[in-house]
Amino acid sequence: MANVLEDHEDMDISTEILNLIFDSREILLEGDLSQAQPLVGEESVDDILEDNEDMDISTRILISNNGSSELLLEGDLLLPTTRNAMKCFRNNCLWKKSSNGLVTIPYTVSSAYNSAETSRIVNALQSFHQSTCIRFVPRRNQNDHISIENRGGCYSSLGRTGGMQVLSLKRSGCMYHGTMQHEVNHALGFNHEQTRSDRDQYVKINWENINPSNAYNFKRQDTNNLNTPYDYTSIMHYGRTAFSINGRDSITPIPNSRVQIGQRKGMTRNDFLRINRLYRC
Ligand SMILES: [Zn+2]
Repeated sequence: MANVLEDHEDMDISTEILNLIFDSREILLEGDLSQAQPLVGEESVDDILEDNEDMDISTRILISNNGSSELLLEGDLLLPTTRNAMKCFRNNCLWKKSSNGLVTIPYTVSSAYNSAETSRIVNALQSFHQSTCIRFVPRRNQNDHISIENRGGCYSSLGRTGGMQVLSLKRSGCMYHGTMQHEVNHALGFNHEQTRSDRDQYVKINWENINPSNAYNFKRQDTNNLNTPYDYTSIMHYGRTAFSINGRDSITPIPNSRVQIGQRKGMTRNDFLRINRLYRC
């Protein structure tokens, strides 16, 4: 691990770290959660993320979730316990719209965060207000709400689960605007871009570079694409070496393999458009 940190300017850093994550993920899949050890120390996670400003959002999330004791799907989705999340759009998992046309989502922020972190979180929530009809409001007594907590990684459930649902933003590794927006987007009901039903027209999944025990992370889903184009730069798109076991691409854009995928800035125009279509803003 010391070598990884010392070589942080090396282009292959994310690959090396993802390989470590792959090891950790395998342990999680075997079900012995207690054996999952963080392979990257808490402080070094932020060091790595800050030294790699160009790293895309999903890669940041996967690094931060290394060693998480939660059973996560696709790196940062909480495993659904009561229903099939893949049919989310056809079930009752959207947040409710009020008669005034706004979709009000109550939230609480854990007192584990300091005031600067709390401001960043609230700022990320409010970044959805200007371009959509979503409105995050501090919870009073509403039953359905999002509880933002400092747990073992950056992760969320898919859509509204009913009652209290945790959106985890670990203080070490998840305090980035794009990371927060990505997790909020999951809570609104959005899956990863590369699991879209039509993804095989836009990307090639290189199964030979993915350990079979991680293959489920690339399973195509029955998604509602809302008549929006496949977006390589969506905040929900994995980076091209996600879960790679050998540093080669796990995801290659087609037909032009040089198209940039993933990014670190934040929500794209399409990401916002989809929210507006899904919630009929
Ligand atoms: Zn995600």
